Amino acid sequence: MKHGWLNWTIIAALVLGTLFGELVLYAGAEAIGPDHWTRVAGEYVLIRPLKMLIIPLILFSVVSGVCSIGDPSRLGLVGGATVFYYLATMAIAVTIGATLVTLIQPGDLDAETAANLTGQAEAQYQGSSAATRIEAANEGDKDSLGGAWKNILDQLIPTSAFGEMSKGNPLSVIVVSLLLGIALAMGGDKAKPARDFFTSMFDTLMRIVGWVIMLTPIGVFFLMAWTVGSIGLANLTGPLALYVGTVLSGLLTHALIVLPIILFIFGRTNPFQYLVQVRRALMTAFATDSSSATMPVTLTETVESGGCSKKASNFVIPLGATVNMDGTALYEAVATVFLFQVFGIDLSMGDLVIVVITATLAAVGAAGIPGAGLVTMVIVIGAVNTSLAGRGVEPLPLYAIGIILGIDRIVDMCRTTVNVWGDAVGAKIMTRVAPDE
Ligand code: ASP
Repeated sequence: MKHGWLNWTIIAALVLGTLFGELVLYAGAEAIGPDHWTRVAGEYVLIRPLKMLIIPLILFSVVSGVCSIGDPSRLGLVGGATVFYYLATMAIAVTIGATLVTLIQPGDLDAETAANLTGQAEAQYQGSSAATRIEAANEGDKDSLGGAWKNILDQLIPTSAFGEMSKGNPLSVIVVSLLLGIALAMGGDKAKPARDFFTSMFDTLMRIVGWVIMLTPIGVFFLMAWTVGSIGLANLTGPLALYVGTVLSGLLTHALIVLPIILFIFGRTNPFQYLVQVRRALMTAFATDSSSATMPVTLTETVESGGCSKKASNFVIPLGATVNMDGTALYEAVATVFLFQVFGIDLSMGDLVIVVITATLAAVGAAGIPGAGLVTMVIVIGAVNTSLAGRGVEPLPLYAIGIILGIDRIVDMCRTTVNVWGDAVGAKIMTRVAPDE
């Protein structure tokens, strides 16, 4: 979408929201919790309208995308190449994370600081919303490796199409939409009215997305103000600064070196020009902290500003928003190894390999919502603990996550931006495999 003014107002909203959060809210006397008016306003202005569109958009974009690709063998090629791209880039990201955290050793703190952090961890963990979600995940046995697979399988083979839509489960809706799209594509002339219906509905929904995008600057302002107001920029310094720095340097390496090289080679595109073209999606990801909520914006921007084909984007973006999470994968590796370091537990090379594999899986299983990566991290910790138990080493307590809870939102915003950038790069590369006629 054009509207050059919109980009500038979003940038202004990011800056003003940060200033307002730091100078007025954080500095003020009142504690800023999840019910603060800025957060509520951000939810109503931007997050809820975007979320409202996610499931219908997945349905109509995937069905119309699959129908437009048509030929099943071409579809297989696009699908196979997309899944390969997702897994390969996530594996690269996680390897970067594991390497950096091992080299930098951000958790190698002096005894007193480490004791302070571990001492406070339990209190910070107990009663936090993350703890509640982690306990819930544990109950479903999703914290184990087998549980992680089952979690993914349950979503891939749903029992009720409409049930999953009303529950808002993106992966299941993608599966249903894929089946419907393939059946319609094979349906010949008889299915043409239905194909036209899906395509026309998709275009209509995109018009609504355009309206919601106009609200982005206001929503971004409130969400930035709330985040910075509740965390305070000063907390990014201190004992966790090196941890945050390690995650950020990994994310920057992946986003500004690895993905651009891949895009340049396989997409024959100037990566930095493309990055500028899709910046509205990246800024929305940063402020909303959710790749799913950003999905409608990513879909619009990749096609209208980034020159991706509808055929590719309609399929690659909805799937990528739920499955492809390079930033989350990288973060899961850094955060887990960091926590083990703080607790003084030495990891072997074999343990690191377990981290690499399970962090990729945990990232695939993480929903595109705020804090999801923090919850699926228990899979990685659980797998490493099992390996440690085999050697008779004391496991890492789950409450260790409390150490990074306080500043996770800011780290999350950065990894979400990289998640969405990875999706956008995928759509551009797949445009070469499935160009619009
Ligand atoms: N917030 C991330 C996303 O929506 C997921 C996570 O890493 O927590 O992409």
